[in-house]
Parts: sequence; structure tokens; C-alpha cells
Amino acid sequence: MEITVNNAVIELVQGDITKEETEAIVNAANSGLKGGGGVDGAIHRAAGPSIMEECRAIGYCPTGQAVVTGGGNLKAGHVIHTVGPVYSGGNRGEADLLKSAYLESLKKVTQNGLKSVSFPAISAGIYGYPLTEAAYIALKTIINYVKNHEGIELVRFVLFSQNIYDVFSDELKKIR
Ligand code: ADP
Repeated sequence: MEITVNNAVIELVQGDITKEETEAIVNAANSGLKGGGGVDGAIHRAAGPSIMEECRAIGYCPTGQAVVTGGGNLKAGHVIHTVGPVYSGGNRGEADLLKSAYLESLKKVTQNGLKSVSFPAISAGIYGYPLTEAAYIALKTIINYVKNHEGIELVRFVLFSQNIYDVFSDELKKIR
């Protein structure tokens, strides 16, 4: 499904983010930028070694922040590596950190003059964020951002399973 907010399309699809043709894709990375499991591993495998070299040169990304590399062999020319919070009960600033991960990623899209970006469900896998809350924060943060910033034309959520897609689409229907 999709909605339009201030000339920007916000779209939900089920699929594999490594195949995306948006100008940038967002990686749910870890602070050491060392790759790993989940979407991070998949992106590094598909992109090839050049973006790992760039990550090594950058060295570190604090939770809630974002850094940019090229896209290597991906169709997307840029990878925005952001670090979502590990969920540990909800009283350790997780909501603010997850919001910040989306916001800082969107700022990188704007700063690089890009018009389209794809996001995975940050923190909703190995990092254990409850899916409904993670979907609400993701969608709310992105809708507010495109309301207040010109330039981005497409924000696509690429959700890996039917279940995650269903939760995101339920939240989007409620917010809309
Ligand atoms: P985190 O450590 O931030 O929780 P994960 O990679 O474990 O990151 O999970 C984030 C989300 O990415 C999960 O919903 C997972 O199902 C999803 N995911 C895993 N591989 C892919 C992929 N190739 N494309 C899109 N989403 C993916």
C-alpha cells in the first residue's frame, strides 16, 4: 500500500531490500559497522567488499546516528548505515533512539540531494524491538519529516515477511 504526504509517496512493499532501485537503501547496522547477520549481512554480501572498506575507514557509528557509503554492486548508489537500539524493556530510551535512527537517515538523504530511499524495519529483527511499536515509530517519524522537508519523492519500506508487512500496513492505516 502507499500514501502521499506533501508530494512524497510513502510505500510499503514486501521483499528484499538488496534488490531495490531507489537511490539509497538504509542498512540496520551495528555500531562497529562490521556487518553481521540479518539485513546487514545481506546488504554486505550483495554490495561486495568496497562498502566494508568504507565502513572500516569510518570506523564507528553511535546508536541513533547514521553514516553514508557508496553502494558497491547494488543498484542503489548509496547505503545509509544507521544503528537502531537494542530493545531491553523500553525504559532505556529505545523509542527516542529508534526515532533518531530514522531521522538521521532521512537527513542524510536530504544532505546528499537524493529523492528516493528504501528502509528495512530497523531494530525489529535481532535487536528485538516489538514490531507494532517499531512500525508506529518508523511511519510517524517519516511522515512528519516529509511534511516538513521538500525534496524526497519516495520513501519505500521493504519488509522481509508477510507478517511484518501486515503490521506496518495496519499501523499506516491507523495513522492515515
Ligand atoms: P536489527 O539488528 O536492527 O534488529 P535485523 O537485520 O536483525 O536488524 O532485522 C531488521 C529487519 O530486517 C527484520 O525485520 C528482518 O526481517 C529484516 N530483513 C532481513 N533481511 C532483509 C532483507 N534482505 N531485506 C529487507 N529486510 C530484511
